Amino acid sequence: MPIPHRIPVARPIFNGNETKYVQDCLESGWISSVGKYVERFEAEFARHSAARHAFSCANGTCGLHLALLALGVGPGDEVIVPSFTYIASANAVTYCGARAILADCDRDTWTISADEIATRITPRTKGVMVVHLYGHPVDMDPIVELCRARNLFVVEDAAEAQGATYKEAPIGAIGDIGVFSFFGNKMITTGEGGMLTTNREDLAARIKLLRNQGVDPKRRYWHTVVGYNYRMTNVQAAIGLAQLEKLEWHLGERRRVAASYAQHLGPLGKSIDLPQVKSWGTHCFWMYVVALKPGVRKNRDEVAAQLAEAGIETRPAFYPLHHLPPYEDRSLKLPVTESIAARALCLPTHAGLSEPDIERIASELQRAVAT
Ligand SMILES: *Cc1c(COP(=O)(O)O)cnc(C)c1O
Repeated sequence: MPIPHRIPVARPIFNGNETKYVQDCLESGWISSVGKYVERFEAEFARHSAARHAFSCANGTCGLHLALLALGVGPGDEVIVPSFTYIASANAVTYCGARAILADCDRDTWTISADEIATRITPRTKGVMVVHLYGHPVDMDPIVELCRARNLFVVEDAAEAQGATYKEAPIGAIGDIGVFSFFGNKMITTGEGGMLTTNREDLAARIKLLRNQGVDPKRRYWHTVVGYNYRMTNVQAAIGLAQLEKLEWHLGERRRVAASYAQHLGPLGKSIDLPQVKSWGTHCFWMYVVALKPGVRKNRDEVAAQLAEAGIETRPAFYPLHHLPPYEDRSLKLPVTESIAARALCLPTHAGLSEPDIERIASELQRAVAT
């Protein structure tokens, strides 16, 4: 019997102008952070995001850091962040010398809600970082309304959600600043890379200044503040522009994969919860994440181990940040986050996943939860 091939959890696909544009960079010598691809990538990204400004940067984490710096976050401040997210969301707050106040998530969308935020506001609260987790949009309107009334900023960590929409608007330009990531497993990739979007002129100027060593845009070697070298290279932007040209294709592929999973996993409804999509938004399915129901005999890690034996790579959901050493707080009880994080499993989700692969994953998952 032939050994079935191993199915990776994520895989980048370069089927556009990536090679052509990178070769152009090498031949022209424009390989550092100045060049036409940086400008074109930013302009195209702004257009796709319906944002007035888009600024590329070295990765999503420094994008979040830049966003908070531009908003003036510093020592003594508190920023409300969901506990159920990738650690970079909270780390960006910590880099500013501020404190990440961890919040629980909504049962259906697994993202932060206005009610959760409202209970954690103190006189020190400076703003909120919402996270469009796994590609499902956050319910933004009640959060924006709450924050406007209290004079708090809203940063959208959109690292996992490029192409998702909220009430027909692209996510990322709804709050004050949106931040995207182009790490190798994200919706589109530049190897490492990130992007900030904003509609606010004051923040745009601040981001530009801080990203580029705090140098006065009109006077060479004249630095007005302590800035950072958080720039993206023209080579990364060349890859990014080519990927962005195919964004609709990448999104369509993920929608196909998600629809096929929903169809094949439907019969497992007694054992697993499938991702829900609220009627007010569209999910971009960065990851198709299922959760074992509490009554299932095997736990999530046992199911993952059985799938790994069958050649199927999966990932556990993120650990709650309040359980991780840098943010550990066992007195904090966030029951929804704790329950979902322990039961959720990311299935392979990428544009290269074939129908037979999806059928194989579904039948192995069925076997794993049944035996
Ligand atoms: C990937 C990710 C980041 C960080 O992006 P990098 O480009 O890897 O630095 C931040 N937040 C979330 C939710 C992410 O998934």
